[in-house]
This record gives sequence, C-alpha cells and structure tokens, in this order.
Amino acid sequence: MVEKKEKNIIEIGDNIVVKDLAEKMGIKVTELIAELMKNKIFASINETVDFDTAVIVGDDLGFEIMKVRTELERGRQMIKKKELGKKAKKRPPVVVVMGHVDHGKTTLLDKILSTNVASGESGGITQNVSAYQVKKKGEVITFMDTPGHQAFHSMRERGAFITDMAVIVVAADDGVKPQTKEAVEFAKNAGLPILVAINKIDKPEANIEKVKKDLSEIDLLPEEWGGQTVCVNISAKTGEGIDNLLDMIILYSDMEELRAEYDVMAEGFIMESYLDPQIGPVAVALIQNGTLKPGDFITAGPVRGRVKTMNDFKGVSIKAATPSMPVTILGFNNVPKAGSIIKAFKVRKEAEAVTEASLHDEKESNFANGGKVISSSKTGEGEDVEKIKKLNLIIKADTKGSLEAIIQILETMKGEGVATHILKTGVGNITETDIKLARSSDAKIIGFNSSVDSNTRKFADKEKVVFNNFGIIYELASYVKEELSKLLEAEIVRVDLGKLKVIAIFKLPRKSAKVVDMIFGAKISNGKAEKGGRIEIMRNGEKVGEGVISELQHNKKTVSELKSGNNAGITFRGNVTVQEGDEALIYKEEKRQRTISI
Ligand code: GDP
Repeated sequence: MVEKKEKNIIEIGDNIVVKDLAEKMGIKVTELIAELMKNKIFASINETVDFDTAVIVGDDLGFEIMKVRTELERGRQMIKKKELGKKAKKRPPVVVVMGHVDHGKTTLLDKILSTNVASGESGGITQNVSAYQVKKKGEVITFMDTPGHQAFHSMRERGAFITDMAVIVVAADDGVKPQTKEAVEFAKNAGLPILVAINKIDKPEANIEKVKKDLSEIDLLPEEWGGQTVCVNISAKTGEGIDNLLDMIILYSDMEELRAEYDVMAEGFIMESYLDPQIGPVAVALIQNGTLKPGDFITAGPVRGRVKTMNDFKGVSIKAATPSMPVTILGFNNVPKAGSIIKAFKVRKEAEAVTEASLHDEKESNFANGGKVISSSKTGEGEDVEKIKKLNLIIKADTKGSLEAIIQILETMKGEGVATHILKTGVGNITETDIKLARSSDAKIIGFNSSVDSNTRKFADKEKVVFNNFGIIYELASYVKEELSKLLEAEIVRVDLGKLKVIAIFKLPRKSAKVVDMIFGAKISNGKAEKGGRIEIMRNGEKVGEGVISELQHNKKTVSELKSGNNAGITFRGNVTVQEGDEALIYKEEKRQRTISI
C-alpha cells in the first residue's frame, strides 16, 4: 500500500569523476559514458559530472545516487541496520508532516494534539518543542513538525532522516505546489514511505480529483487509481478524516514492524539545542534506541554531560526516555549541535573517550577560516547602523563545533544600540597574531578551552590586551553580555533624599548677581540633606526654582549630611531667591551602569 523503493544506493559529493562513478556502480566506464551520451552529456573518462547529472544517469541504470551522508544520516542507517537484540520490542512510529506553506500542517498537528492528548495531563503543551506524541487506541505515534525558521531546510532534512514515514499535506483547493514537490522528493530520497493527506476538504473550492491528478503527475499514483499511494481526505479545521489518517499511520507502522531495544544505553538525535541564560544548555533529542535516564553520562559530538533532568514534550519531568520519544535534556556542559548523535554511557570514562575521538576528528579537518572577517550581528530593523556601538571580538575555540555554537550565540547578542562584532574566529590556541589584531582593533579575545603559551601571555601583558578563556559557553555569553553593557550610555537617575523647610534667611543674595548665592536656616523635615545635593524650591505647592546645597552646617560646623529632625545652615546657589516658609525637595543625580536586556 505504501510506496517504498529499494535501489542500490551510491553516495557521492557535489561532483564525481566519470571513472570513479563507474567504479562505484560496478559497471564499465564505457557503459556509463554511453548512458551519459544518451542524456546528451559528453564527458570523457577523467571528466567530472555534477550530482544532478549522476542522479539522472544513476536512475536509468538502477542506482539511487545520494549525497555523502552526514554523521546523522549514517546514524539512522546504523540504527536501522543494527542487529537488534532478541529483546527488541515494538516502538512508536516517528512521522514527519511536510507540505507547501499554508496547506495546513500546523492546523493538522494542532488538531491531532488537541483531540488526542488528554488535557490536564500536564502543565500545558509546550509550543516550541517540535515533536509531540499522541495516543490513539492505545498506540503511540510521534509527530515531528518542520519548523518554518531559517534552518527550515536543514531541519527538514534532519526530520526526514530520523523519521519512519512522511505525511505530505496537500490543500484540496490549491493542489501540488513547489514545496509539495520538494517534500515528496526529499521523502523519496530518504527512503521514507509517503502518505498523502488531502486537506481542506470542507472548503467549497476543494477539488480532490484535481489533487489526485497532480499527485499522479509527480509519480504518486493514488491507490484508488491503481497506484500505491495512500491518500486520506481530511479537514484539519473540522477534524473530519483525521481518525482515518491516524489509523493509516498505525496500520503502516504495524506492517513495518518498527522495533527497538529498551534495556540498553540510549542513542538518539539532537533535534534542537539552545542556551537558556537561566538554566544553561538545553537539548531536545529524539531517542531512537535504548532508554535514557537521569544520571547517564552523555555525549553529542564533542560535547559531554550528564543527564540532570528530562522533560517530555508537555514539559513534565520524566525518569525514563524510551525509543521514539522526544525529550528535553538538561545536563550538557555546552550547547550540543543540532543534528548530532546523542549517546549515553554508564561510565564517565567511556563518554570521555568518545568526545576525545570527536575532538580529534574536528582538529584534523580543522577550520579554514582563521583570520577572515566573519560577521557582525545584524542590527535590529530601523536601527541606525552608524550609531551602533560595536564590541569587537576575536574568538578562538578548541573545536569547530564549539566555535560554531559560540558564533551562533554571539551573533544574536545585540540591542539597545550595541552589538557584537566578530573580527576573527579560529580553532586552536590564542596566538601573537590574535594579540596584535586585538590591540590594533581594540578587540577582546575570547578563548573557549583554548591554550595560551607563556610567551603569548607575556606579549599580551606587554600590549595590555585582555583575553579571557572559558570552559562553559554560558559563562562566556554572560561575559560578553557584561562587556556589551559597558558600552551602553550610563543612565542618570534621580535619587530622592529628603525634604526641608526654610525657617530663617541669614544672608540675602547680591541684588545684581545673575546667580543667586545665599544662606538660610532650615529644618530637615524628612529623610536627609547632603552637601552637594540638589534642591527644588517649592512655594505654595509649586516649584519656583532650583539649586544646589554648596555648604551644609549644623551647630556652626560643616557636615556632609544631616538627618531629618535637625536644623541646618545651608549655603545655597541657585536660580531663585529663597524665602522664609519655602519648602524644598532634596535629591541627587546618580550615573548608573545599565545592563543590556538580552
Ligand atoms: P501551514 O503553513 O501548512 O502550517 O498551514 P496552516 O496550518 O498555518 O494553515 C494555513 C491556513 O489554512 C490557516 O488559515 C488555516 O486556518 C487554514 N486551514 C488549515 N487547514 C484547513 C482546513 O482543513 N480547512 C479550512 N477551511 N482551512 C484550513
């Protein structure tokens, strides 16, 4: 019922030499050249063809050409192929919902959630988690959303590779659109069976037959037209047909016999990760095999940690995350990269060995962009770029992974007229070149687990260049936040000190003087008075002028401050001649360092 192609899969990069492609296919070079010629491509044995060309001729020759897989994709393959122990049990299917924008993916997921997750089970459904679990007739289904943010494409790829099937949503009033085709292509490449949900059937303009025609044109011939593609008519708005869709998903997963081991250490994929300023690194993972528990040592690429707490998609704390379950994990030392494989270990040493190997791999491949200007964080809309004060930064990290994570975080740190400006990034030690650049560009050097040799340290001291090395990303982020705050204009705040009442005039001002200088006697009626404090003169409840207390005396002695209840001799300089019976508010102005609110 559900379409699934089995072909010989060949992995290549963006380009491949004809000879090498023939070798991978296990056919004669002449055979391949002939096939290329059929497609009007005249390439000789040592010439290169691009990926798309390889896909076309590969298809004709019965091969599925795929891009060299990432660690992530290999992981999926690995988990799929891995000899599962005898104890392997049924696991829920993981379903990704894809389709053209506005065809109703979100509405569908919302509807499924609201009708299939018992309300009151938790403190509410977390909106920003991109995977959910629902229960239908005792069967659990994991759904994955494909978020519409900038990382949409890579996220969707990720989604497809960690899922068991794709539901392609097509609006019945719109038909197959470019993103529908893209999604179908993608699901096919990833070897995912496809189920089509023909949505919006409640609309008067709905034309189900037209959608089916569109589908057959992109190689998805509906079952009822003699093909293999299951189409379910639904309305995400009214809920019609959704039960049927869920039944189909369950039917499919029963056929696929999706299994996993529950009693081994967990493995899975990091779907999302971010730095929460309050609680540190947060990772949302999908468990593929095994069970993850608090206290387990975990790795994801070069990042390590130990599970502190875990929440399910509803935000409820859980003690075990089992296969196909999306789980939010606290306990990583740094932000792991989305798309990396998470592995759990009983013993810290095993986890350390894995991250060390990963660090080694990254050092080998190194980063090619040392010394290049990378970026500056984009300023907010409407902000005048010229007026933005920049915090120049040079960043050195121990691995490419951590460097990328740091750049990602720092680039978003901006606002209130200040922003980070990353001048240079690199993997490795802090060097004299970095110090020189920092001095000439007035930049701060930030290291992340990077070393500095003693000569460089001396050189930095001599040049008066500040560098800071961190081992934890959120400490690094709060340092940058502090430095950004220092760039903000200090704010002047008024601090009220007290009140006084004028009881006698001792010395009147000179009549011709522009500035009023005089001495009066007063009673501090509230709070306190301070030498240097500012006063506002009030007469009959209205402000008549202002000035400063340039001298403060008590019992003919100069004092710096005087509390309420005392009489004071006040030397006043201001813009009004004070009269007996006037009252004055005493205050001072303070400069206060602002803290950026990002
Ligand atoms: P997405 O971009 O694919 O996530 O699409 P949305 O779920 O945001 O839906 C786009 C628009 O279509 C919204 O205005 C929905 O209310 C509407 N919509 C979605 N499903 C249906 C449906 O079954 N019937 C009708 N009439 N409108 C729908």
